[in-house]
Amino acid sequence: LEFILKMQCKFLSAPTVSTNQETAKSEICIDNKTGVVFPWQRYRLPENIEPTGYHLHLHPNFTHQNFTGHVSINITIVESAEFVALHTRENKITSVTLTPINEKGKSDKASKILYCLNTEMMAIYFERKLKAWDHYTLSIHFTGNLTFSLGGFYLSKYKNEKGKETVIGTTQFEPTDARGAFPCFDEPAFKANFSLSMVRDKHLHTLFNTPLLSTKPHLGNLEMDEFQPTVKMSTYLVAFIVSDFVKISNTTSTGVEVSVYASSDKLNQLEYALHFSCEVLSYFEDLFKIPFPLPKMDLVAVLDFAAGAMENWGLVTYRETALLFDPLTSSVKDKQWVALVIAHELSHQWFGNLVTMEWWNDLWLNEGFASFMEFSGVNAVEPGWAFMSEFPLRHELRAFSADSSNFTHPISVNVSNSKEINEIFDNISYDKGACIISMLVDLLGDVFFQGVNKYLDTYKFSNAVNADLIQKVTIAARSSHSNIDIQAMMKTWTTLPGFPLVDVTLNEKKVSLLQSRFIYPSSNNQLSCSSVWQIPLSYVTSVDPMRPKKLLMEGKSTSFQLPQNVKWIKFNHNQTGYYKVNYDMTMWSNLIDAVLTHPETFSVSDRSSLIEDAFSAARLGKLPYNEAFRLAGYISRETMYAPIVTLINELGYVEEILKIQLEEDSRSLIHRFVQLLFKDLYTELAWKNGTSFNRNQQKLQTVVTSLMSKYQPCIHEALNRFNMWRNPNIPIQPDDLPIVFHAASVHGPLDDWKHLWDTFVNSTDPNLKVKIIATISQTTNLDKILFLQSEFLKGENIRSQVFLHVSTLVSGLTSNLVGGPVTWRFIRQRWEEITKIHSVASFSMRSIVKNCLGLITDQGEILAAKDFFKNKGIVDMKYVQQALEKSAINAQWSKSHLPQVKVWLRDNEKNSK
Ligand SMILES: [Zn+2]
Repeated sequence: LEFILKMQCKFLSAPTVSTNQETAKSEICIDNKTGVVFPWQRYRLPENIEPTGYHLHLHPNFTHQNFTGHVSINITIVESAEFVALHTRENKITSVTLTPINEKGKSDKASKILYCLNTEMMAIYFERKLKAWDHYTLSIHFTGNLTFSLGGFYLSKYKNEKGKETVIGTTQFEPTDARGAFPCFDEPAFKANFSLSMVRDKHLHTLFNTPLLSTKPHLGNLEMDEFQPTVKMSTYLVAFIVSDFVKISNTTSTGVEVSVYASSDKLNQLEYALHFSCEVLSYFEDLFKIPFPLPKMDLVAVLDFAAGAMENWGLVTYRETALLFDPLTSSVKDKQWVALVIAHELSHQWFGNLVTMEWWNDLWLNEGFASFMEFSGVNAVEPGWAFMSEFPLRHELRAFSADSSNFTHPISVNVSNSKEINEIFDNISYDKGACIISMLVDLLGDVFFQGVNKYLDTYKFSNAVNADLIQKVTIAARSSHSNIDIQAMMKTWTTLPGFPLVDVTLNEKKVSLLQSRFIYPSSNNQLSCSSVWQIPLSYVTSVDPMRPKKLLMEGKSTSFQLPQNVKWIKFNHNQTGYYKVNYDMTMWSNLIDAVLTHPETFSVSDRSSLIEDAFSAARLGKLPYNEAFRLAGYISRETMYAPIVTLINELGYVEEILKIQLEEDSRSLIHRFVQLLFKDLYTELAWKNGTSFNRNQQKLQTVVTSLMSKYQPCIHEALNRFNMWRNPNIPIQPDDLPIVFHAASVHGPLDDWKHLWDTFVNSTDPNLKVKIIATISQTTNLDKILFLQSEFLKGENIRSQVFLHVSTLVSGLTSNLVGGPVTWRFIRQRWEEITKIHSVASFSMRSIVKNCLGLITDQGEILAAKDFFKNKGIVDMKYVQQALEKSAINAQWSKSHLPQVKVWLRDNEKNSK
């Protein structure tokens, strides 16, 4: 089954490609030119000088790929200072002057400037003494280069509808790249007002965080745009774009002008984003009880973009697939993705932009909150989607996967250099953060948002630490939840790595609970198991299945008495808690019987959670796989998306290992098992015109059809539709595109593959392009694989700047046993070349390594891979360690479970005949 659902990247606001980021902690910083010791040896700026306002002037030249600039920064000396220290990277500083604000005219030139490459700082000295409470304007002229690096002020290319190549300039500053565009105090706590003037070609225009004030003619064919000053904000939220993009606009009920921008050929794909963002912006204004403080909100689709999107205040940038929606070719899931990303970024406008974390160690709160608010926002604007039951699929699954590793980290973590800051834009900050917020919301209800409102109002246009939020929430919850020490409870979730497994046993009416850290067995587990979480537990029983009971588990073990005998107990009601549950054998057996006979007794989320917990228990060796498979049998009666996808993921893992272990017979048995489970649903949904289906059915249609990708009648129908699409050009339903393209790529004649490649090259639809890469890369034809590898290196058609192109390609190439080993060899052989294009810290590289190592379970190969990464000097990087560990876990799984699973599959085949 190539059906492990490929999730899109969830790193919504993480940039990645930066240079000069390595900072050795013990190294003493010395100015390279003079050999003088840099006067400030810490990573964070001194606090004796505060910037209050910036005026930035930029004049980029896209042809020569460089820019000249000038920044005037108003500063206040808080404590007397010998030098002014601020951030700069790679720009050439051409002159620096200092002018007292109240004695105009008496400017001082800098007497000396020292640089520290490690911390990307400059220290500027003047003859004059900088005394406390003096106010100055620091004026810096500089020049810099524009590259295609996806960080700082950078260039992006695209072909317009006439095939003409157009270059635009855009920015991505979070977390530490503003300093690459202009010298600044580049830390979130140094908030200031920013204004901008930008010189540009006449045929282009400029966007900034604020509305345009004026445009004046400049030299020759140039014009200069001036912008209103911003509200007080952090440097990482500043953004500007020079482009020829077009827009559509609307005004919200509270008078905010919302515009969505893209290149002119994509004008027809902006409608949904505009509708959704107007609605969700109003929803957040209501929920947070603070009006959106800017007069306009621009959303811009940028082709070359490292993250999913970036919440720059009033000027949010998106990768194209996160904003564009074409009803003719985009699927239900594409639309959902657009809604999620917009809701995420717009919630940041309050939580993150209005109130900002003091320092990056609190990133999880910023990102966890936005990742939680995505669902709340989508649910409010699209209530018909019944979307909340998918929260665990999007966040919990990924959080559990990252957090069950030895190499995870607590969500609250100290970061003290750019590399460490970049590293925490990960599943822990985003997905675990979201799960913990969700658990707190479930515990406290509306009271949580009362605390949030108070927090936003108290710290608006300023900074706060996590404890400030917890304090506001605690005060709000004082009367309704006086028995819970929220601070103590949250501390266990934010400072401990990993998450708990709760083992439940039932003896008559006595329920006993024991918690321990959840970890998959591998050959080199090295965990201390002393962690104890304060877990807000919930459960329902066979006697009262509709009314959940709650209790807080504070110690390692606890027990309580039920008022009467029950047939079953189900813990973690509606999957809102960030923990897994295992039951004793009798309890499991009763629960599975109950699901098989009356699945409707359990909520949709509880059915998902039972599947997940049963297969997790099986992987831990606490439940025989037979029992987990027995539970899976109920799925032929399931009609809801979340439990079905949960099961597909679990079976997908087993199938993946069978594939790697070359157990082809067993593999075809598990395919048969799946086909049998889903045959009825397939007959009901597949290949039908989905317009009369409800949303759940529409989503299932895609899933169930792709599940049948090895089912002969399905392949036959898919190829049939592909041919009709080629000639006489009968459109394929958007939701059927993946399966039809898959069949053509893998089972069709080579000419079909070629036709898809040509369609890919000529299309300007970003969603369609990704769908084609996902399928043509699954080919088992060696020539085609080699062709795709060479395209990967060229980086033109399959664009090296587009993360989804790279990650989707590698994921496809490593999805089968022909492409996998060839690709892993290719990555090793061309490592130097590849890491020149994709830095070792980039998301692309993380995805490449993860996919390649996913294919290995042989002990010798694991050791060889480890040696390889050691040689390349990156064996200590977290994602490499995690990938190696995953291989070891898979190897251990094969040893422990493979024989048992093979027997079950054989028996099941006999019984089903
Ligand atoms: Zn975010």
